[in-house]
Amino acid sequence: MQTALPEQYRLTPKGRRAEDILRSCVHCGFCNATCPTYQVVGDELDGPRGRIYLMKEMLETQTVDPVAGHHLDRCLTCRACETTCPSGVEYGELLEVARDFQTRHSDRGLFERLIRGWLMRVVPYPQRFRRWAQVGRAFAWLLPAKLRHQLPSAAKRQQAVTNPETPRATVLVLQGCVQKVATPEVNSALHNLLTRNNIAVIYAEQETCCGGLPMHLGEEAAANELVRANLAALRQHVHEVSAIVSTASGCGVTLKDYERYLDADDELATTARHVVRKICDVSELLMSLDLNFDKLDDVHQIAVHLPCTLQHGQQLGDGVTTLLHQAGYELLPVKDSHLCCGSAGTYSLLQSEMADELRTRKLSALQRENPDVIVSANVGCQMHLGAQADVPVRHWLELLR
Ligand code: SF4
Ligand code: SF4
Repeated sequence: MQTALPEQYRLTPKGRRAEDILRSCVHCGFCNATCPTYQVVGDELDGPRGRIYLMKEMLETQTVDPVAGHHLDRCLTCRACETTCPSGVEYGELLEVARDFQTRHSDRGLFERLIRGWLMRVVPYPQRFRRWAQVGRAFAWLLPAKLRHQLPSAAKRQQAVTNPETPRATVLVLQGCVQKVATPEVNSALHNLLTRNNIAVIYAEQETCCGGLPMHLGEEAAANELVRANLAALRQHVHEVSAIVSTASGCGVTLKDYERYLDADDELATTARHVVRKICDVSELLMSLDLNFDKLDDVHQIAVHLPCTLQHGQQLGDGVTTLLHQAGYELLPVKDSHLCCGSAGTYSLLQSEMADELRTRKLSALQRENPDVIVSANVGCQMHLGAQADVPVRHWLELLR
């Protein structure tokens, strides 16, 4: 694709990156076939190829057209288009550049600014999020159904588990911000699995949100602040552990990109490099340890939902299905398993109509063969699907014994 970015912008690091990515697109349109929003509305501007044109125009004219902004906001950042693209177009990174530009050059109106501000100031901070969730539960009857169904259930805490005395390895488990409040039992399950196999687990006291939430909202400065705070918290532990593990694929995909968010001469750049080398999804860790698992007695047939952040963002997924299969579960076939469920970070709150439609389609595919349980690998999908599913939706780790 030919581009004509203004010289002043083209010479910036972001401009250079945007130009490289835009030029790698050959307009073939293959990506439209696997784009969830294109499948729902059938509008070229709600597919990746159309959005690439919109981003190109935005960066060339250095202005944000409201119509373009609307179609870019409707992108889930699921990156299914990247998996499909034969030219290797790095759509997700281009969208990051475009959303940062959009944030700095457009006015979203008071109501939307308030919602985005609330999301940024509350959700990444577990104590604040827990308090808001308590208030939300107390006044649940006042909330619109879509918010009521997304509320985390009453406060659960991660169980304290003792580490083995002479472990064969030590790993650092990231607790996540939303997960710590909404599904702390996931990390408890991992802690149990590892300690019973003579692996010690540590946590980083000062761990913060990975930065994924503000990054998703196009708030790059806020995301960068969290990335730096999280790196500072991980710096003291990075050399004492053999791996840094994430059980939420939405966090994992951001953490694996940490090096990209810092300048090469940043004082935390070396830490970022060490951290990225050790970051892994929990499925990667368990596959590498060669452990044996059993299934739960009362669960037999399961439907697996692989989050986009796992299958497209990290190009993983086989590990989850292999481990569940090895444990003895029957994995039911799921149609269109490459498509997003509509959760996509804060998308389900900001673009609720599209998110609801995608969830309805996803649940119909997941529940078609009557599974005992639906499993996912990310807290956001788990909450979003769980709000409307007819069967329990759990993290896949909880099914390993
Ligand atoms: S498949 Fe890749 S090269 Fe083809 S239009 Fe989509 S992004 Fe561009
Ligand atoms: S990231 Fe997902 S929703 Fe956005 S254009 Fe690509 S396939 Fe479509």
